[in-house]
Amino acid sequence: MRQYLAQKARYPDAILFFRLGDFYEMFFEDAVLVAEKLELTLTSRNKGDPDEVPMCGVPHHSAHHYLARLVEAGHKVAVCEQMEDPSAAKGIVRREVVRVVTPGVAIDETVLDPLAPRYLAGIAGGGGLALFDASTGDLRATDGLDGAALVSECARLEAKEVLLPQGVDSALEAALARTARVERRAPAPQGADADLDADAREALAALSAPAREASLAVLAYVREAQPAHGLPAIRVTAYRAIDRLVLDEAARRHLELVRTMAGERRGSLLGLLDRTVTASGARRLREDLLEPLVDVHQISRRLDVIEALVADPPRRDALAEALRGIADVDRIATRASLGAASPRDLRGLGDALGRSPAIRAALAGVPALEALQPPEDPDVAALGAEIVDAVVTDPPAVATGGGIFRRGRDARLDEVIDLMSGGKDLLLQLEAREREATGIGSLKVRFNQVFGYYIEVTRPNVPKVPPRFVRKQTVATGERYTTEELDGLQTRLLTAEERRKEIEKELFDALARRVAGLARALGHWAACAAQIDARRALADVAHRGSWCRPVVDGGLVTQIADGRHPVVEALDPSGSFVPNDTTLDGGDGPSLLVITGPNMAGKSTVLRQVALITLLAQMGSFVPARSARLGVCDRIFTRVGASDDLAGGRSTFMVEMREAAEILRSATRRSLVVLDEVGRGTSTFDGLSIAWAIGEHLHDAIRCRALFATHYHELVALAATHPRVANFNVAAREHGSDVVFLRKLVPGGTSHSYGIAVARMAGLPGSVLARARAVLESLESGQFEARAQGAQLDLFAAPAPSAPPADAVRDRLATVDVDATTPLEALRILAELKRL
Ligand code: ADP
Ligand code: MG
Repeated sequence: MRQYLAQKARYPDAILFFRLGDFYEMFFEDAVLVAEKLELTLTSRNKGDPDEVPMCGVPHHSAHHYLARLVEAGHKVAVCEQMEDPSAAKGIVRREVVRVVTPGVAIDETVLDPLAPRYLAGIAGGGGLALFDASTGDLRATDGLDGAALVSECARLEAKEVLLPQGVDSALEAALARTARVERRAPAPQGADADLDADAREALAALSAPAREASLAVLAYVREAQPAHGLPAIRVTAYRAIDRLVLDEAARRHLELVRTMAGERRGSLLGLLDRTVTASGARRLREDLLEPLVDVHQISRRLDVIEALVADPPRRDALAEALRGIADVDRIATRASLGAASPRDLRGLGDALGRSPAIRAALAGVPALEALQPPEDPDVAALGAEIVDAVVTDPPAVATGGGIFRRGRDARLDEVIDLMSGGKDLLLQLEAREREATGIGSLKVRFNQVFGYYIEVTRPNVPKVPPRFVRKQTVATGERYTTEELDGLQTRLLTAEERRKEIEKELFDALARRVAGLARALGHWAACAAQIDARRALADVAHRGSWCRPVVDGGLVTQIADGRHPVVEALDPSGSFVPNDTTLDGGDGPSLLVITGPNMAGKSTVLRQVALITLLAQMGSFVPARSARLGVCDRIFTRVGASDDLAGGRSTFMVEMREAAEILRSATRRSLVVLDEVGRGTSTFDGLSIAWAIGEHLHDAIRCRALFATHYHELVALAATHPRVANFNVAAREHGSDVVFLRKLVPGGTSHSYGIAVARMAGLPGSVLARARAVLESLESGQFEARAQGAQLDLFAAPAPSAPPADAVRDRLATVDVDATTPLEALRILAELKRL
């Protein structure tokens, strides 16, 4: 317990997995917590004693599963191992924490999602932000971000853990803690980069001070988490958020980029695009999707690659064949540098590197594709060949049990293997030799558990036994002996198994160290393979869906002919998706499209399809359209009215308005803004006036390209006074008493919502429908004013006697609590008073 407490004191905020024989045990509060979280039995040590200690344990061979669940739940776990062989140790076995697994620092396969990166974020003064994926060694850093931007970057990259300097305001901490584990840390000490290789040190030195400080903070944390190994090989990239198309959190969610509103990968854009055949390719594709480009040249270079691949299906197939099933080289190289690679990992690495020639061949002949090739590195090639040569085809998952290497790798190992397989022969040979030497024909070499190997001689032959035979045991039928030679052979045989394990472990560690030494080159190789796979997947999707190459330029025009929503189209089995044309002109207009139409007409679909086509083009993909010309966007904002977003679980008007405010604050002329039923989360009057004002602001002040879907037909009037507003509606036609949705976007507004027809199709009783029709008629006979005046419309109340206006104004004013009224409410009240 003293040993336990000493280790626990060094890792007070971690759950300590304390190795005791075949178990990891937890004690005290750790035991109580873990027993509850993992539904394990809570027992105790020294039961009944005054010093009784709560305790629970997990078997070491399945510990990684328990560990993964704790880390997933946001805990930190320190793994404390036995550092000596218990049978050889004197006194208590030495134990040490060999690694700490935290939500942000994980390299274990069981903890990691093969299809997503895992980021640890570090924040420093001056808006410095560093994001580090310990499983691949990728470090990206930037600076100059304000609080909101820091939160949004961490959310975008789904950082699982964030390190905050002490003294930073707690509002930032609270915002970050919504999605990540947050830890306060002192700044990294001087010389915190001393153990990095020259390349990494140089790259760090080139960063701005805030970016560097944030980077050093994450590296210090990772180093502490790997006390036995220090840091893996690191690739540093400086990035600027403005070099990427900014997608705010609402846009990522609303556009269902990596998961649907219901949290599923299937049905998301990524679910459609991800035809990759490797895990690292899938991660790369995901990253490209979440940070599209803004540089038209870069975009065009990516499009060249897609075009070349779309045009050549056999080449695509060859690439898929060359890449399919290859191991996760990036993560394996990192595990190797942290001493955590398995024999299976190394063999996988060797096999993957063996695919290089096939990959190369499949890219050859087209300059745009050849540019993607992994560089020819003789060391990497030699390592791959060596592994394939040395390691068996299907090696074990652990390095300690032998069975990893083939014959011919090491003379000592070969000898041991021969000894093990040839042990029986050697014993027979010895037996034959002793029979001959002693002349005892019935002499036998035998084995039992108590005495091991012995020579048995029957009683009548005992006088012939030479003096070099040492008697071990007398039995009824004769005597049992041993000889020096037999003893030696016995020792060799019995220890052969152990020696084999030892030698193989030693060889394995040496090989893993060689992999670690080449980690940087291997990471580069893996990055190339991942990129090839990601591009190939996009080309595959483009080809199957008959997508087109977009023209992305520096203008402000979005012009899409026959655009489709990629996911809605793919999920529609009837193949009857109706394409639509959309033109937005951020120059002379029309730049703001107001789209009306009944429920279920297809308004949201049109909106999203424009945003998705823009995003796809900027990630360098073909797009689902007949043709598309897109002036590059700097940000895509989307906002979906509260009641359309129940799955997001944030259906409050407050959130809706906060996000609208964010759009109005940060949108630029070059942004694309998509507003779907904004204003829906409040009463009709509020909603309409807010929607109106937001539309005006987008048109007059921001002048960006914007799409505004609304069920407020009144917004159609914006076009009359605002030159760059155009009205469209998604056509529907009444067919008898049914509505037929034509799904076609046509110019002009609509005032018909077909709500009652839809209600009829949905099965509302006839009596209710008839009543609804009557009410509608009375409303449509010029009672818009009446509607506007009552914030809550009460159809069935008796008409109120009209009061003299002055009194009405005074009465209304009396209800206003000025201290508790926001400017927006005040404006609304003023508008209301004017109408009295
Ligand atoms: P709204 O926003 O007008 O209520 P949606 O855009 O949500 O309507 O569309 C409702 C449904 O109509 C979608 O789920 C989709 O199945 C179908 N739909 C929408 N647009 C199209 C289209 N262009 N072609 C075919 N089906 C469509
Ligand atoms: Mg909708």
